[in-house]
Amino acid sequence: MLIAKNDAQQMISSHEAVKSEIYYCPCCQNEVVLKKGKIKFPHFAHKTLSNCEATSEPETLEHLKGKSLIARNCATFGLAYELEAYLPEINQRADVLIQNKLAIEFQCSSLSIERLIERTTQYKKHDYQVFWVLGSRLGTQKHLTELKKHFIYFDCFRGYIDFCLLVEDNLLVVTYYLFSKNKKIVTRKKQFSLGEISLVNILTECGLKTEYLIQQPFEEMLNRRKQLSDQLLCSDNIVKDLQEYFYQHNLHLAHLPPYLYFPNFFHPLLRGEDIRIRWLTFEVLQNKKMLTYRELQQDVLENLPPEAMDDYANLGKHQVFDYCLSLYVSFLQEIKVVKLSGSNMLCFNEESVMNNEQFKKFFKKRSERLTLPLKYDMIIK
Ligand SMILES: [Zn+2]
Repeated sequence: MLIAKNDAQQMISSHEAVKSEIYYCPCCQNEVVLKKGKIKFPHFAHKTLSNCEATSEPETLEHLKGKSLIARNCATFGLAYELEAYLPEINQRADVLIQNKLAIEFQCSSLSIERLIERTTQYKKHDYQVFWVLGSRLGTQKHLTELKKHFIYFDCFRGYIDFCLLVEDNLLVVTYYLFSKNKKIVTRKKQFSLGEISLVNILTECGLKTEYLIQQPFEEMLNRRKQLSDQLLCSDNIVKDLQEYFYQHNLHLAHLPPYLYFPNFFHPLLRGEDIRIRWLTFEVLQNKKMLTYRELQQDVLENLPPEAMDDYANLGKHQVFDYCLSLYVSFLQEIKVVKLSGSNMLCFNEESVMNNEQFKKFFKKRSERLTLPLKYDMIIK
């Protein structure tokens, strides 16, 4: 801990504290000792082992330094903050609470998914926005584990992202999850020096210039198709379920119309389910010809099996679904299969539906590339 109470009930930072005084944990009120030395990063520790909420994250040097880096960044950019803010209403302590509403959790060590969901839910329930920022070990892990999926956020311009703080370099790294290729997830990383930019701006994206991250060639379509065939061959359960579903509609997963494979967005929280969402979207549009985005959303959702999607700590399944659908409709608008009529009617345009050959030609003309991410908010809600 970096903050403790003294006898006069004042909050004292470990940098100002002196060894001759007695300090108490602001959380459980038990006595804490000041650890200060030539090498040690000054901090407080409970005198005796306790089940205090404040000790939920082991106090590694990385964790201590990270919290003070975040605090320093807030101070530099004139944001009110509270270090290790104890929130009695939820009996949780935020590593840093900014402007009384934005909780930053700097997560250096592993924790259970249940605990992560519980903590996140509590914050949201009490109207705090919470940002989990990963430490170097979790943040630089190559494999996207189930735990790591729960730390993923998305926004309209950046798609699926997570955040990692590299304490030693004073850098915040944003990882963008873009698409998958040969079973590997293609990501892009962008680094921000915390000496130059406000952490809150990076997390919430306000004031940052949006930019296109990648151009996806048409060939990506073939990639996705091949990937699905491979998964079928190795009897991947999720893909097998999908195949069964498409069989019922006399379709094979590896021979679907091109616009179901392309663009090859990666939906890390959907486990291949985007193909079914696209198919249903297309079906609904084809049958109804004209409807609002809301109606489309409802119709597709009604036909999705409830077990097809999971809730994640930071992203509920409805958000993930909406993101996937909205991106797809944006794409259909790009290739003119969907047109907007009036202010909010989506119209299906049969003549623009292309077969494989036409699709390929179309993208040849457009220099075979599609720029990602498509703007998520192109759809009129
Ligand atoms: Zn305590």
